Amino acid sequence: MNDSMRRAAAILLVIMGGAAPWWTGSGAPASASANDAMVAAIAAAPERAAANDPRLKAAWRFEEGGWIYVHLEGDPGAVGYQHGYLLAAEIEDAFAAVSAGMTHSTERDWGFFRKAAHEMLWPKIDAEYQQELQGIVEGLRAGSGSKLDVDDIVAFNAFEELPDYYVPWLNKREKAANAPNLKSPGNCSAFVATGSWTKDGKIVIAHNNWTSYRNGERWRIVFDIAPKNGYRILMDGFPGVIASDDDFGINSDGLMVTETTITQFEGWDPNGKAEFVRARKALQYAGSIDEYTKIMLDGNNGGYANDWLLGDRKTGEIAQLELGLKAHKLWRTKDGVLSGSNWARDAEVLKEDTPEFDANNKESSPNARRARWDELLQENKGKIDVGVAEKMLGDHADTTENKEDANEHTLCGHVDGSPRGVKEWEWQPYYPGGAVQGKATDATMAKDMRMMARMGHPCGGDFLAKPFLTAHPEYAWQEPYLRDMKAGPWTEFRAGQTRKERGKS
Ligand SMILES: [Zn+2]
Repeated sequence: MNDSMRRAAAILLVIMGGAAPWWTGSGAPASASANDAMVAAIAAAPERAAANDPRLKAAWRFEEGGWIYVHLEGDPGAVGYQHGYLLAAEIEDAFAAVSAGMTHSTERDWGFFRKAAHEMLWPKIDAEYQQELQGIVEGLRAGSGSKLDVDDIVAFNAFEELPDYYVPWLNKREKAANAPNLKSPGNCSAFVATGSWTKDGKIVIAHNNWTSYRNGERWRIVFDIAPKNGYRILMDGFPGVIASDDDFGINSDGLMVTETTITQFEGWDPNGKAEFVRARKALQYAGSIDEYTKIMLDGNNGGYANDWLLGDRKTGEIAQLELGLKAHKLWRTKDGVLSGSNWARDAEVLKEDTPEFDANNKESSPNARRARWDELLQENKGKIDVGVAEKMLGDHADTTENKEDANEHTLCGHVDGSPRGVKEWEWQPYYPGGAVQGKATDATMAKDMRMMARMGHPCGGDFLAKPFLTAHPEYAWQEPYLRDMKAGPWTEFRAGQTRKERGKS
């Protein structure tokens, strides 16, 4: 293919979106008869019509470094439609993996989650995000012929909050006999630094996402969202979910946002607003640490309770919002560093919201990583930049053994290598989970909406599903969904970026 042909094909691909284009005859063997090809073309006619939908004009998709980048733009319905259409195949695949995990751990059927989404979550979702979620369903159906409806997509968007927050709360309330032991997750290692801690005195923020490899290998979307209302957003994310959800993002008014989950958090308010809605809204509409805090507190349902690490590049100020349900606390500074590895520290939050958490157990994953953050950040004081942050996210120093040993104690988590697992999260020995990808940025990059991202373990190591499942048949139920997770390179992404700009067309 010459350059102009390749460009034309690339443009056509953008127009067609991510779904398999009908004209490539994908799925049909090359030797298919003309008749078969014609039948295929007729069958694919609705997809072809969908590709001409005017709502798709402003959107595009490309892949790089193991990530799938999508640009979404317009009113909420259009943003949703583009999301659903461009990521149709990935949404179907992620929905299967996530819903299998939700029903497996809770021993509740999918209808239970649909009902919770419909009756409890949906009525409190802002109209704007209801439209976006409906748009995802429409785009998904047009893109892949999916049968999923809005209740499915809402329950799916709440995958971090319904199984591990709502269900244990409900089991306790209903005094359910033989209820599974469900624990809120502990996801992620992160920090935000500013002032004398960083090389240029401005903010540096970094995060690696800890989750099951089953879900984590699918957490490979870079969303560039130009919404009709609110600020431009660049964030990593999960196919079909409107919030970053792991979370890492920046907005065009200067907010830099990440979090780590509070281990052994207990609590749920059925009258509150879903966390995934508040988190998306805060990233889209907050121009300051105060505004961010206000949006997260408005309708706080206790779901997916996090220690939010925030930066405002306009002022150089950073903050930590420890968002419990019964208690919360905000710390802020223009000269300091704030880290997170799934531990709460406010006395009230510890007492009211995480009564089981043992802050003194040096062997636990959150506390071992907390000690490592303290060492590593102190060692790098005054030198922290994005390059240093990338290295830290891949760190394998185990503070409990005083040696390099990638496991549940290290900032780059590899729990599949740990005979201990993480009992605080109900991760059994050798649980296939840990750090699944990393992101970092600084104030200068954030000003022009850029960030670095690496898919897979931030250290660069690969996870291979087949040998793991052979060695650990206790995880055989994951076999249909568990895939290899190979690390990509650290890759820069920018809002408004097109494939052509990267010289890859
Ligand atoms: Zn690692």
